[in-house]
Amino acid sequence: MKIVISSGHGLHVRGANNFIDEVNEARRVVSQVVKYLKELQVEVIEYHDNTSKTQRDNINRIVALHNSLERDLDVSVHLNAASKTDDPRGVEVLYVSESGRVITEKVSDAIARASGLRNRGAKKRSDLVFLNNTKKTAIIIEVCFVDSKADVEIYHNKFNEICKAIAESLTGKETEGVTTVQAPKAEVKTEVVTKPSESKPASSGNSYIKKFQEWLKNEYKYQIALDGIFGPKTKKIALMALQTELNRQFNAGLIVDGIWGPRTKDAILTVSSGAKGNITRVIQGMLYCLGYDPKGFDGIFGNGTYFAVIAFQKNNKLTQDGVVGKNTFAKMFK
Ligand SMILES: [Zn+2]
Repeated sequence: MKIVISSGHGLHVRGANNFIDEVNEARRVVSQVVKYLKELQVEVIEYHDNTSKTQRDNINRIVALHNSLERDLDVSVHLNAASKTDDPRGVEVLYVSESGRVITEKVSDAIARASGLRNRGAKKRSDLVFLNNTKKTAIIIEVCFVDSKADVEIYHNKFNEICKAIAESLTGKETEGVTTVQAPKAEVKTEVVTKPSESKPASSGNSYIKKFQEWLKNEYKYQIALDGIFGPKTKKIALMALQTELNRQFNAGLIVDGIWGPRTKDAILTVSSGAKGNITRVIQGMLYCLGYDPKGFDGIFGNGTYFAVIAFQKNNKLTQDGVVGKNTFAKMFK
């Protein structure tokens, strides 16, 4: 079983805030649930959006991240908020599909049982982008109300029990030794803690690498073996293609030699979401070659490319901004 779990809203797109802050707490819950899931040997990827500036971008980015990964279950963690006039309390879990309903009831029951939070139960919601647009069984956990003093007190006292109950009810497994697990720090995690499970090692013949080689051969008339294997020759020719494009599009005046040197590095410009064309194709081709999956070799810098770049940057200890600039190109071609 593979799970992708994300926190609601984002670093720049804040959620509810009263006695506690929804975004910060949802992140803590997700991170602690992930620890328990890993104890249970469950494959899990966590995601927190640190990039989006608008609500629409935020939800689209979260949905796209979920849909870009291989998984059985999509989970989103939120904390609830009430209007001033009413005083609701407790946990509720939201679903839209029938498969979601079953697991939703289990999760809500488990959290209530483990913590003493009131059980508001499973609620069907057909108006939520996350539930409607993720393509697997999806649920949203509203842990408790940020504006209920009683809820927040329980939440603080039973934090580990709540997270453990979530992990166990999502999987039907039981963790051991809950008390030995350290309480997490209330810190904001960095973007995308993930090595996408569909990343393929570049060792054996790969149809996308072959596609890239065919394109290099047809577009630039280079002599290159179409074997779907990434080696020094393919890397060199990919860099020659990049140098050619920098010359054609930006009059960079580079010698097209497939060698990564200071002049090539200087000529590099920044490529980011929305870009289209042959430089984006080179980036996508190189991502496939290096074991990442940009979800297509179409020359369009969309979400698939963005998340593959983020994963590449993370694994290479680069700033994870999803933008391909001098340092990211350098890691690809050096
Ligand atoms: Zn929320």
